[in-house]
Amino acid sequence: MDPARIFDEFPAPEYRGNQEEALADIRDAFAAGNDVVLVRAPTGSGKSLLARAIAGCARTAGEAGAEEVIDAYYTTPQVSQLDDVAEDPLLSDLEVIRGKNNYDCILPGETDTPVDQAPCARERKFDCQVKHRCPYFSDRAIASNRPVAAMTLAYFMQTAGSDVFGPRDVVVIDEAHGLGDWAEMYATIELGPETVPVWEDTRPQAVDDLEDAAGYAQRLADVGERRVQELRQQEELTAEEVAERDRLNKLRQDLSWFVEDYRDPESVTTWVVDQPDGEGGSVTIKPLDPEKYLKHTVWGRGHRHALLSATILNKEAFCANVGLDPDNVALVDVGHTFPVEHRPLYDVTQGKMTYEHREETLPKIARIVVRAMQHHPDEKGLVHCHSYAIAEQLDELLVDFGVGSRLRSHDSEDRDGQLTAWKRSDDPDVFLSVKMEEALDLEGDLCRWQVICKAPYPNTRDSRVAQRLEDGQWGWYYRTALRTVIQACGRVVRAPDDHGATYLADSSLLDLFERARVDMPDWFADQVDRMAPPELPAFDPASALGGGGSGGSTDDGAGSGRSRSRSRRRSSKSPMADVWDTE
Ligand code: SF4
Repeated sequence: MDPARIFDEFPAPEYRGNQEEALADIRDAFAAGNDVVLVRAPTGSGKSLLARAIAGCARTAGEAGAEEVIDAYYTTPQVSQLDDVAEDPLLSDLEVIRGKNNYDCILPGETDTPVDQAPCARERKFDCQVKHRCPYFSDRAIASNRPVAAMTLAYFMQTAGSDVFGPRDVVVIDEAHGLGDWAEMYATIELGPETVPVWEDTRPQAVDDLEDAAGYAQRLADVGERRVQELRQQEELTAEEVAERDRLNKLRQDLSWFVEDYRDPESVTTWVVDQPDGEGGSVTIKPLDPEKYLKHTVWGRGHRHALLSATILNKEAFCANVGLDPDNVALVDVGHTFPVEHRPLYDVTQGKMTYEHREETLPKIARIVVRAMQHHPDEKGLVHCHSYAIAEQLDELLVDFGVGSRLRSHDSEDRDGQLTAWKRSDDPDVFLSVKMEEALDLEGDLCRWQVICKAPYPNTRDSRVAQRLEDGQWGWYYRTALRTVIQACGRVVRAPDDHGATYLADSSLLDLFERARVDMPDWFADQVDRMAPPELPAFDPASALGGGGSGGSTDDGAGSGRSRSRSRRRSSKSPMADVWDTE
């Protein structure tokens, strides 16, 4: 890597905000010999452009010795972020490759068949005569030969160990704050009727501890192996059998990794196991701090790594979570360039939203939502409900108040469709959302105000969370919630001249801000310090239905006289959306 090239590799014709300074700091951090540079860059800092500049510093073929690796990877956990990269003309030399199920076969009669179910996947020894023109295989070939290959983190991790995407000089991970969570999620093994094709023949006894889990995993792997052998004997497989074979192969790989790691006395990975419905029920095997997994799938894939995010809050804690030695890691902080008065926080706290207090607090929050609707009669709003249970209860309360005609909501099946419909609508509708704190770009009139109903603490009924708290990792617990709040606050203010108000309704959020103050980026602490109660109209649901007057907050900074704009992006699907328990 040649960090000195970073300015030449910056793809935009000029610098905005703090970009030039950020590039200099990143260059210096790599030049000082750090293997990993964490770039804490808030919304609007042009993270993707910084990422491209860093990737451009990778050693090129002309500079490399015989054994030296070259080129770079760009990867992000967020599908919407990869979509944005693919559409950005400044990033046109990032060669995007997606998973097989995103491409269709081109053979006659198969043009609606995804590549992972096409004849080459179904038929043993199928020799495709048009493979060189196949959209998946040609994109893959191009990406593997270009200086910067771009892909989702899921695809990147899956291709660890492959010949096609071997180690490169530089790996850049965008939106990297959840790397530990993602690794835990990918490394989690779900064993149940949905995931185990041979489930009925292999239902588990009671799995009370890890030794039971290892025994069961071994038995399952053996049965899976036999079934795969059977499938291999067949000349041709149906689409269902292809899916079964692929699932079994992945399962066997995961199970053998678990058994091997669990039996390895040197392994630092802690495993936890859940069987909530007892004997015969589904089993989940999860690793805590899966360092070994990340070593194989991420750290071993490049010489130098850059990790970018607005919410890498604490360098030491982040490093511990993802298996990095903080001595080889530098943190570069990029300042916020959006005026703080454009991103106000309002204290509308109504009490605690813990399970015991919810019945008392939620009706009060519903009244606050109505008053916010009155205050923003012509502006779209978003309510972060935290769980489907809260969303349903809130929906009922608001409908009872008579404001249902201005509401939209979603369930776990139709979240992307409903989100897209709400974004496209010209009406000032209010969207009751669950787990949409990340990967959502609501620039301008797409959304002018939002309510956070509940402090987004991790679910203590999740065994990983429980284990961490048993280990005294309260700092992690508060940081995780703070990270989600900061992410949520960033949804409605996307450019220096954009503005959007965030109303905080759960009093536990104030407690969270106190406890996690030490881990707050300065630019967010500025928002918290300015937080005050807003001047909302008196409760009057009849005037909350919108559709009249100039509307909008007069105290969010930049006025509300813009014309409505439609979404310029695709559906902002967040693959993290349903990771956390949503009750
Ligand atoms: S390689 Fe051939 S058979 Fe396989 S998906 Fe591509 S075009 Fe279809």
